[in-house]
Amino acid sequence: MTIQLTGVSKTFGDFTAVHPLDLTIPEGSFFALLGASGCGKTTTLRMIAGLEDPSAGHILLDGTDITALPPHRRPVNTVFQNYALFPHLDVHDNVAFGLRRRGMKQVKNQVAEMLELVELGHLARRRPHQLSGGQQQRVALARALVNKPQVLLLDEPLGALDLKLRRQMQLELKRIQTEVGITFVHVTHDQEEAMAMADTVAVMRAGRVEQLGAPAELYEHPRTAFVANFLGTSNLVEAEVTAAGGGEAEVKAAGSPLRLPSARMPEGTGAGDGVLVGVRPEKISLTPADDAGGVPAGRNRLTGRITEASYLGVSVQYLVETPACPGFAVYEQNVERDPRLVAGAEVVLHWNPAHTFGLQPGRD
Ligand code: ATP
Repeated sequence: MTIQLTGVSKTFGDFTAVHPLDLTIPEGSFFALLGASGCGKTTTLRMIAGLEDPSAGHILLDGTDITALPPHRRPVNTVFQNYALFPHLDVHDNVAFGLRRRGMKQVKNQVAEMLELVELGHLARRRPHQLSGGQQQRVALARALVNKPQVLLLDEPLGALDLKLRRQMQLELKRIQTEVGITFVHVTHDQEEAMAMADTVAVMRAGRVEQLGAPAELYEHPRTAFVANFLGTSNLVEAEVTAAGGGEAEVKAAGSPLRLPSARMPEGTGAGDGVLVGVRPEKISLTPADDAGGVPAGRNRLTGRITEASYLGVSVQYLVETPACPGFAVYEQNVERDPRLVAGAEVVLHWNPAHTFGLQPGRD
């Protein structure tokens, strides 16, 4: 089902937890509400579930206004972080509970089908305390899905799991969503989790959606410094626009000319304006200053000095002091490590201009 929020807001006393929000979550999508603690993502989810009344606005499912419907009349189920399984019931009966409560007698096949979906068929007779956290989470998921909801809401469902299990369950959740094909709305403060699972991510901040898009779009083309920094690490430097218009814009950062696609410039920016220019650490290559002549033409380049080099196995992370920025981060992956790239070395940082983005200065 398609979920539509039109002008939905929520105030608690004189505090606005969610400012008027317009949002369309397409049928069958895996949608993530991502943001730091207190930004209003759980409140938004609870309004969709019917657990919280909006202060204003309307919530529609496939065009039908459900704003006034109580939670149990909505074709929506929620999975919470603290699974809330019944400790005295085994896995099978936990999953069967909702069906039996609705008066269904023949539940065996449906429960078996759900347990298979979450790969727990062999543990049907275990009690919750005999399961790992990840297995308990799967039971909670099966219990929500067995009711055949049209929409599944997930509130930090992996929050209680350790990092490795979290990553594993992320893939599982994505597989299950693809298999059942219903709309999932997932609340998380973990950017990697949102990026790994969701087709669309809404980055929330102080009760508003700051930017909405596919994970790659948000990562490659953040529109604000907040989004650029919330989703991974960004190098942001202050610059002045020297040429705009055409396919490519040119800026100057601490005396160095840099180029970027005009489409990646903030709207309405022209020559003479200030701009924040960003590039992700893994897009940058380092070349010892002695070899600067070998840097291919057409790349953006800055000169600097390595202040820190950390070997992390999968990558080497450098901090480079440049006139434009005292701590430029550079992640080099899958490369033969040049023994000259150590702390103190003079280097050229260079990258493809296409990976550069421009942001409005003064907005964090
Ligand atoms: P977290 O990740 O910590 O759950 P969140 O982004 O989900 O954070 P919400 O739970 O939606 O945030 O809360 C948003 C804001 O609204 C917070 O500042 C919170 O303190 C406030 N808030 C939530 N529920 C209530 C309530 N019942 N009464 C008063 N304030 C509330």
